[in-house]
Amino acid sequence: MYKKLAKTEFPRFFEGLGNLGKVYGPVNIEGSTYEFREVQSPEEMDLKYTRTMIPPKKFFLGTKETMYTFDEEKAVYTPAIGKQEKTIIFGIHACDIHALKLLDKVYMDELMDLFYTMKRRNTILIGISCHPDEYCFCKSMGTSYATDGFDLFLHELSDGYFVRVGSEKGHQIIEANKPLFIDADEKDVEEFKMNEKKRLEEFNLELNVLGLQDMLDLAYESPVWQETADECFGCGTCNLTCPTCRCYDVVDYVGLDLKTGERVRRWDSCMLRKHGLVAGGLNFRPTRTERLRNRFNCKGSLTEGMLNCVGCGRCTVYCPAEINFVEVMKKVIGEL
Ligand code: SF4
Ligand code: SF4
Repeated sequence: MYKKLAKTEFPRFFEGLGNLGKVYGPVNIEGSTYEFREVQSPEEMDLKYTRTMIPPKKFFLGTKETMYTFDEEKAVYTPAIGKQEKTIIFGIHACDIHALKLLDKVYMDELMDLFYTMKRRNTILIGISCHPDEYCFCKSMGTSYATDGFDLFLHELSDGYFVRVGSEKGHQIIEANKPLFIDADEKDVEEFKMNEKKRLEEFNLELNVLGLQDMLDLAYESPVWQETADECFGCGTCNLTCPTCRCYDVVDYVGLDLKTGERVRRWDSCMLRKHGLVAGGLNFRPTRTERLRNRFNCKGSLTEGMLNCVGCGRCTVYCPAEINFVEVMKKVIGEL
C-alpha cells in the first residue's frame, strides 16, 4: 500500500507516534556524528543524516546486559526480562534495515534468542530514504533499498513523503492516523520513481561482490593482510560500529556466597587479541594479521544467503587508522 503524508501533517503524525512508545531518531551530536536518541519533537532530529556511529543493533543487543540470575544450590536460572518498552526507531536507513534482517535470521530464526526477540517484537521501524556520501557502497551490496523488514518507509517528495507500508503494524499506524494520509497520486509516484533513479546515480563507490567469497578464499596468503594489519591498532572499533557484527562474550559474575550470581553478555570484537583465547591458554587467532583476515572473510561471506556486510561505510569512517574497507577488499581480490 502506498500513501502520501503532506509536510504540513508531518508534525501531527510524529506527535501521535509518542502514544505508541518511546521514539528514537537520528540526532546530530557533533560535526558529522549522529546517534539514535530519544526525541520528543521532529526539530530534534536531522533526517538528512548520513549514518549514526553506533548502528540500531544497540536497541536489541545491549552493549552489556544481564541474561540470567542464578542460584546454583537451588539449580534455578531466572531470565532477566525487565519491563519491555515499546520502541519506535524513526528514520532508519535501508542498509540498517537489511542489517537487522540479518540479525533477525541469526537471533530469531533457528535458535530463538529470548532477549533479542522480545525487544525486536516491541519495536516499530520507520525508514527514511537517504543520499549516499563517499563511503556508502550499499548499492553494490544490494541493500540500498528495502522492500521489507520495516513497518513504514518514508521517501521525501517536494511537498511531503511518499509512504510505503511494510507490515501489519504499519497498516495499523496508517489506520489510526487516517485523516493525515491521502492516497498517492500519479504525480507523487512519478516523483518518487524519479528521485530513486537519481539517488542510485549518486553512488560513486562500488565493490564487485560477484564470487567475493571465492576471491577471498583464493587470497588467503595475500600480502595485503599483513600490510593492512601493520597499520591496524587492533582497537575493535570496526566491529562495534558494524551493524551486522554480533559477537558477544558471556561472563558469570558469582556472588561472595559462591552460589548466586548473574550471567552477563557484552559486545565482543574479533579484532581484539583475546577474542580467540580459549580454555588452556590457546589462542586460535594469535596475530593481528589473522584477526584482520578473519574479519574481512567474515564480511565477505554469507549468512543464510545474505552477505555479512551491508555497505554502510561505518568501519571506514570510524577507523582511527584510516583503513578503508573497500580499498582493502579491492586490493585483496586483485581489483586495485
Ligand atoms: S577500527 Fe581500524 S584500527 Fe581499529 S581494529 Fe578495526 S581496522 Fe583496526
Ligand atoms: S563491514 Fe563496514 S561497511 Fe560493511 S556493514 Fe560492517 S561497518 Fe558497514
